[in-house]
Amino acid sequence: MAGPALRERVRVRLGGAVQGVGMRPFVHRLATECGLAGFVRNGPDGVTIEVEGHDITGFLARLSAETPPLASIDSIGVETLPPTGNPGFAINASTQGQAATRAIADAATCPDCLAELSDPTSRFFGYPFTNCTQCGPRHTITRRLPYDRAHTSMAGFAMCAACAADYADPTNRRFHAEPIACPACGPHLSHSVTEIAAAIAAGGIVALKGIGGFHLMCDARNPAAVATLRLRKSREAKPFALMVADTATMAAIANPTEAEIALARSVARPIVLMAARPHALPAEISPGLTRIGVMLAYAPVHHLLFAALPAQTALVATSANPAREPLVVDNADASSRLAGIADLIVTHDRPILIRADDSVAQILAGAPALLRRARGFVPDPIPLAEDGPVTLALGGQLKSTITITRGREAFVSQHIGDLDTSETVRFWRETIAHLLGILDVRPERIACDLHPDYLSSRLAEEFDRPIVRLQHHAAHIAAIAAEHAIAAPVLGLALDGHGLGTDGGAWGGEMIALHGPGWRRIGQLAPLPLPGGDRAAREPWRMGVAALHAIGQGAKAAARFPHQRLAAPLAARLATGAAPITTSSLGRLFDAAAALLGLRDIQAYEGQAAMELESLVNTPRAMPGGWTWNGEVLSFAPLLTAFANHAPDPSEGADLFHGTIIAGLTDMATAGAATTGITTICLGGGCLMNRVLAEGLASSLSARGLTPMLARILPPNDGGLSFGQAVLARRTTIEGE
Ligand SMILES: [Zn+2]
Ligand SMILES: [Zn+2]
Repeated sequence: MAGPALRERVRVRLGGAVQGVGMRPFVHRLATECGLAGFVRNGPDGVTIEVEGHDITGFLARLSAETPPLASIDSIGVETLPPTGNPGFAINASTQGQAATRAIADAATCPDCLAELSDPTSRFFGYPFTNCTQCGPRHTITRRLPYDRAHTSMAGFAMCAACAADYADPTNRRFHAEPIACPACGPHLSHSVTEIAAAIAAGGIVALKGIGGFHLMCDARNPAAVATLRLRKSREAKPFALMVADTATMAAIANPTEAEIALARSVARPIVLMAARPHALPAEISPGLTRIGVMLAYAPVHHLLFAALPAQTALVATSANPAREPLVVDNADASSRLAGIADLIVTHDRPILIRADDSVAQILAGAPALLRRARGFVPDPIPLAEDGPVTLALGGQLKSTITITRGREAFVSQHIGDLDTSETVRFWRETIAHLLGILDVRPERIACDLHPDYLSSRLAEEFDRPIVRLQHHAAHIAAIAAEHAIAAPVLGLALDGHGLGTDGGAWGGEMIALHGPGWRRIGQLAPLPLPGGDRAAREPWRMGVAALHAIGQGAKAAARFPHQRLAAPLAARLATGAAPITTSSLGRLFDAAAALLGLRDIQAYEGQAAMELESLVNTPRAMPGGWTWNGEVLSFAPLLTAFANHAPDPSEGADLFHGTIIAGLTDMATAGAATTGITTICLGGGCLMNRVLAEGLASSLSARGLTPMLARILPPNDGGLSFGQAVLARRTTIEGE
């Protein structure tokens, strides 16, 4: 048997997301359980702990193993000190107020708070704003740092005696829970949960203010309610997200995998794409698609609402915004902008300071991958492999985000939206100002897209800093490499809808070799005419005609697109050789294929044709000889010719199209790897939202001995663009700086 351990004392410094997450009460409890003396305290750089006693090793092991769920320890420094012999363990005053070093993301209601919500003996029984150090709103209510109540939208609510006592008690779950509130002292809903439930049960549409904005909600099993919502929101076909109370209801409407359930249950509570259970819900929820987006209830008000509705209720829960405008967050805004959409508008008096849409994620090749990054993930920083100047990257035009770097961290904003309304532009400006404020930095350089017509590119001048303009697809590839902390040269396949090339062309199917700040295009898809520019993206039949022209079968245009009276004139115009601009975009090739397969002539929303084509896939298989690669250009003319000569049924066509695209792109990447000696292949661009394509490419590249990299913590589409811009801009040398 070992002898009694010596009495030792150590100082432990914790860095990372360690404040405002219940770290001090946790350390207090742990030290007490281990029989140790000492103290814990917040400081400007994180948390400092000193412990003294006989079981320091056990304490340190449990400190790492049992960290509170919202905390994330980036660094632990341990140094030995001489023992003092002082007894007792204390939570000491912070060295600099309650300075939280980092803003924290919003978190779903924790099990303890949930239990109190339905406990009639609890002060928090039925209270829609209950929270604790382990859950509740954070980023969306934070005006500025340090994170304490005075700097949040709870500043206007004075704590009652009971809340003040909980807040000050180190053994309480609400010790220093800044948004602490109860029915006696906190915010209130404008309507009772009973009234909200009654409106939904009656087939009404409810605008409900939540954590990051308003939702529009209705009973998902009521086709008339869903149809009314589509009509009033001017949203013809784009799929609606769903909210359910529990995984049992989830399993009643979908066939989720274990990994999808785990992702849906994570504290960030994203919308998770999963296979719909056929006929469980009206087709109007996600027309033409086989997957649905489902999230679990995440705020107390959601749990209370489901408790007041019949068991296994599924709600449509879509962002409450008029078409193309950002999410509504203000009470006054809600009554003016949502009046024509919702039958009942439910507000509350805790202001939302930061808009945050629900995040969207899927399981990709066995692991989570974000498709839209907002609530629950923002403002967690993304670690960078390199240091560099403070850079503000402005993103693109659509699905916009902005990124600010500080040292070896990048802060990517929440999803902002398409910069084509003044409301969205205002939100974009607010986001920049707020993020600069909470990070307390001034940008040294600005990064934006090469496209001069993007509003973000035009506004770049406003900041009066050196501007670095980056090619769209190089930025996509840089984003993928940087999120995997790869600073070495990589190859990338940028598979996208549209981005301006350095030659003025419309790019979107490029093989890029990225090397530090520089890059080169070393392969591309065979260009197709892009008739009608932006209209071609909305009307796939135009790409269908372009494809027919490209393979010398323009004469078939009228027969193949009988409902489009402009099809024959367009083919005739292309035949005169008065060529419009061309595009190497894979997104447009998807549109062409969907049109030639008779799937869709006109899109109701961006990406609809490609999403429907993906939905039809059973088993992708390559058409032998369906592509050619000449060392520079990858052409799918043989595949398109086969589709033009005899269109297979859409499902078979979807299998053939996906399989052939994957095989052709794999050939191109393999050739690129052989030429350059680079074997890491970053897969970026909006087409990688397509799971069949992303997983198929990843596995076929792996089978060739290459190392594919997929987007995981940022979307592969333009939502990740600002991050890639920031990374490249920091590496760029600026003359005279
Ligand atoms: Zn809680
Ligand atoms: Zn209270």
